[in-house]
Amino acid sequence: MPHYDVIIIGAGPAGIFTALELSRHPGLRILLLDKGKKVEKRRCLIEAGFETCQNCLVCSIMSGWGGAGAFSDGKLTLTSEFGGWLADYIGKTRLETLIAYVDNLYVKHGAPPRVFGQDDARIREIAMNVAAAGLRLVPARIRHMGTENTKRVLQSMYRYLEPLADIRTGVAVESILVDQCKVIGLATADEVFYAPLVVAAPGREGAQWFSQQAENLNIPMHNNQVDIGVRVEVPAVVMKEVTASVWEPKMLFNTKTFDDMVRTFCVNPNGYVVLENTNGIITVNGHSYADSPSDNTNFALLMSQEFTEPFDKPILYGRCISSLANMLSGSIIVQRYGDLKRGRRSTPERLARGLVTPTLKVAVPGDLSLVLPHRYLIGIIECLEAMDKAFPGVAADHTLLYGVEAKFYSARPQLDGQLRTPIQGLWAIGDGAGVTRGLIQASVSGVVAAQAILEQIG
Ligand SMILES: Cc1cc2nc3c(=O)[nH]c(=O)nc-3n(C[C@H](O)[C@H](O)[C@H](O)COP(=O)(O)OP(=O)(O)OC[C@H]3O[C@@H](n4cnc5c(N)ncnc54)[C@H](O)[C@@H]3O)c2cc1C
Repeated sequence: MPHYDVIIIGAGPAGIFTALELSRHPGLRILLLDKGKKVEKRRCLIEAGFETCQNCLVCSIMSGWGGAGAFSDGKLTLTSEFGGWLADYIGKTRLETLIAYVDNLYVKHGAPPRVFGQDDARIREIAMNVAAAGLRLVPARIRHMGTENTKRVLQSMYRYLEPLADIRTGVAVESILVDQCKVIGLATADEVFYAPLVVAAPGREGAQWFSQQAENLNIPMHNNQVDIGVRVEVPAVVMKEVTASVWEPKMLFNTKTFDDMVRTFCVNPNGYVVLENTNGIITVNGHSYADSPSDNTNFALLMSQEFTEPFDKPILYGRCISSLANMLSGSIIVQRYGDLKRGRRSTPERLARGLVTPTLKVAVPGDLSLVLPHRYLIGIIECLEAMDKAFPGVAADHTLLYGVEAKFYSARPQLDGQLRTPIQGLWAIGDGAGVTRGLIQASVSGVVAAQAILEQIG
């Protein structure tokens, strides 16, 4: 029967950084399990020629070495303002120290040296410009790895960890084993692994599974928000001035009609719009390659939704809205902004007449007003019109909107300041525990868990 000192579930940034930090302790027996494949074996079937998502049992975009971040754009957001809620657990000062710490590790493993968003005078200028249009710029320093560099960095981390930890891919954990409120190991379909310390880092892909485990173990859970919106695609030149200096302008806008907050998210200069499959629901996302730029820039416009009594299932709500787009199109709808304003669907002919060539070829021309609730549509339209004042062309008729983009934040288990659950020896970290929503904070959460473990075992 295999025995370890620590078992980590999930080889996303949270799990990998747990292992990296633990590996500083010589002789520790570490097992790192992931249900997906090694990074070089991960391949979405759409890349292999399929026209749409094939709903693979284990999604290669979301699962495997590197987690959901492996095919991401690799934007490391070097601020405590975004990317999660870790400051609520470890405080802002420690979070900022650990952000610098994990960023250094990314650089050590090959992340490029350039950091965007450091020119304060230019940022003030942009902030004033967007303020005049009714938007608030939230400054952030960004290290942009690019999709191909992200893969190299992850491979370097794998090579470093391979002699120090037992790494197994293609292994799904079925249950966490607990005896008298103490963790004792876990079970897969074929094997049982024993360890007194387990770190669960299952990401958004494994969030439902983890919630089920938490329920079985009587760990109190708190529901998070859901973010719903669209991905916008414009000619890169429209936003070039701002993306060249800050890479990812993070902007907030208050809608006039409903006083809702719309935020820009995940701006990808010269990027590509991509599909994302979360447990069978297909949504849209974006990334950009450092070495092969497209002619377009894409970004998301998102609105957060929290619910009060009696409904408390934000993820289900987000999934239902996203599934409407899936039902109407087979996956993702794309619509020209001009068609949306005129109350008509986009057609292949109208799309072909447009000035923006969609980078997501499999998206189906359609009508997003049949999918998104009224207040989301109004929020998106008002925000685009405001952005157009700061970046003329953003709200042109040719601008493309892809839907639905949704961010399902996992329910949060009860955790202490070291991200420990009430079950002795069980930690829950990263996006799957609902405490992070980005590469940097997910990585930091791994370091927090590992440092607590090292302290505990002396
Ligand atoms: C397309 C895309 C682009 C993104 N771009 C960026 C970006 O540029 N910048 C940024 O900061 N963030 C980005 N993100 C978000 C970022 O990838 C996540 O915040 C981050 O990966 C979360 O890390 P994690 O380790 O918590 O979880 P994940 O990265 O999701 O990893 C969890 C891992 O656990 C495994 N797992 C789950 N359940 C089990 C189980 N039962 N047994 C075994 N293994 C299991 C999964 O297979 C997965 O590999 C992007 C996300 C996507 C999808």
